[in-house]
Amino acid sequence: MTSTAVVIGGGIAGMCSAKVLVDHYDRVVLLERDVYPDGVGGRRGVPQSKMFHTLLERGRREIEDIYPGFHKLLDERKMPKVAFGFNCALMTPRGWGRNLPVPVQRSLFCTRAMLESTIRDLFLQEPRIELIEEAVVNNLIVDDNNARKAVTGVTYKRRGDSDLTSLSAELVVDASGFSSKAAQWFKAAGINPPEEHELDPLLTYGGQLFKLKAGARFPKDWWWTHGAFIQRVPPKDNVAAHLIRQEGDLWLLTLVAGDGLEIPKDEAGVSEFLSRMRSPLIYDMLPYFEPVDEVTTYRLPKNKWKFYERWDESPSGFIAMAAATCVFNPNMGQGMSVAAGDAGILKQCLQITDSPHELPELFFKRQAEFQKNAYQLACNNDLKFETVVGPRTVSTRLFNWYNDQINAAGAADPWIAREYALVNLLMEPVSYSYRPWFVVRVLFARLFLRWRENPNADDRVAPIPPGPAEIPTRIRAEIRNGLGLAYRFARTRVGLAR
Ligand SMILES: Cc1cc2nc3c(=O)[nH]c(=O)nc-3n(C[C@H](O)[C@H](O)[C@H](O)COP(=O)(O)OP(=O)(O)OC[C@H]3O[C@@H](n4cnc5c(N)ncnc54)[C@H](O)[C@@H]3O)c2cc1C
Repeated sequence: MTSTAVVIGGGIAGMCSAKVLVDHYDRVVLLERDVYPDGVGGRRGVPQSKMFHTLLERGRREIEDIYPGFHKLLDERKMPKVAFGFNCALMTPRGWGRNLPVPVQRSLFCTRAMLESTIRDLFLQEPRIELIEEAVVNNLIVDDNNARKAVTGVTYKRRGDSDLTSLSAELVVDASGFSSKAAQWFKAAGINPPEEHELDPLLTYGGQLFKLKAGARFPKDWWWTHGAFIQRVPPKDNVAAHLIRQEGDLWLLTLVAGDGLEIPKDEAGVSEFLSRMRSPLIYDMLPYFEPVDEVTTYRLPKNKWKFYERWDESPSGFIAMAAATCVFNPNMGQGMSVAAGDAGILKQCLQITDSPHELPELFFKRQAEFQKNAYQLACNNDLKFETVVGPRTVSTRLFNWYNDQINAAGAADPWIAREYALVNLLMEPVSYSYRPWFVVRVLFARLFLRWRENPNADDRVAPIPPGPAEIPTRIRAEIRNGLGLAYRFARTRVGLAR
């Protein structure tokens, strides 16, 4: 008998999971409601694609594992190499981040359209996946003849068709993103959907593409040649902005406003928004650019967790993944890495069992273990802002207090900063930061190394980031300059990097 797996939705989770499934099912069908654009382009099904997206190291590794050659292909497409503290200025709630003598690149920076189209090009080369575009799944086929109900397929409608098509499958994977209709489909089949947790981050994003004006050159002392990033400061300062270099000499300006405030759409409004930031850096940079398109705005959906991992009525033959199960504030850039990581978890689970009865429970449990890290980080961070409505439990307060201590300690002790970055990059779980030695070192740094945190407190909160010459230790400055010069030389003369 031929076994079939159906994937609903061809975003990052859908494309990655379909590739994982081909080794376990005779037939893998991916149903996507959009027509994929030719080349790099946005599409209706992913309305957030016009907004800034960065892919963390965890996501990069997961995608590379599923689609070998992914990173090389991005490089060939001239993805810029953005590195905070080296060629991109970062102002965190604590002030400007440290300048680094060499680039430390822990995330990929290009448009979401470029990322998705690069994965898609590899996905389309896989002959074992059957892609059906313009196919909107509108229900699940549920068999309720046994004690445990079973999902045995889907019905969908293709654009232009008057009738629905039924497709039987041993496994249905819901990768249809935050607009997933699975809860409605289950209710219609007499199954109570999983419970949900919600928290509204009250955030609106705005995005606009720019390019440098012909002949424009930044002043020589602007070392932030690849962009600037200004974060929000809890509990009150609820606006953020960044202007980051993307592929093809494009730059993406992002404006973020909390409390449900509107993002300005006209030039004067954007200018005024930027002029009110803690640092005028982006405001000062903007005159060097000209817009390529209009401002697009996007009101973030609520953070939402669907408790699939403790769902008593889970039918066999059905799993849901990524944004279809868990949506959260993207300010830490973790959503696509979660999507790719979930596909990696599916791959591991399929090596243990491909039984439609056993797979859902195993998968939901492991997926929740992974996703809860990103969800916890996002929701707890949102609760630092006073206008966000939600319970500030003792554990939330403790979590946020400890998180602040780690960030402060990381400014004094680079080891702490490096280790904690692994948590933010989703390479390690949140529990990694609760290892006894790590806790001791954080407390030690807070109690005894405060003097190293802020070598020059004024510089940290100055409107313009400190330059290399202001790094206090002369030796460090020399090393930085030497390595930086060598790197820049290599970059321009040898073409090592863009
Ligand atoms: C403003 C903003 C900024 C973000 N920035 C980042 C970032 O910097 N880094 C990061 O990692 N993440 C970021 N994210 C999160 C990221 O966009 C999502 O987490 C990620 O796209 C989820 O992937 P997915 O495959 O689960 O869902 P999606 O990408 O939403 O894909 C779902 C797919 O399913 C299709 N579909 C839906 N319903 C049906 C149906 N009934 N039938 C057939 N097809 C269907 C859709 O057309 C779509 O193709 C950001 C999100 C937002 C909103």
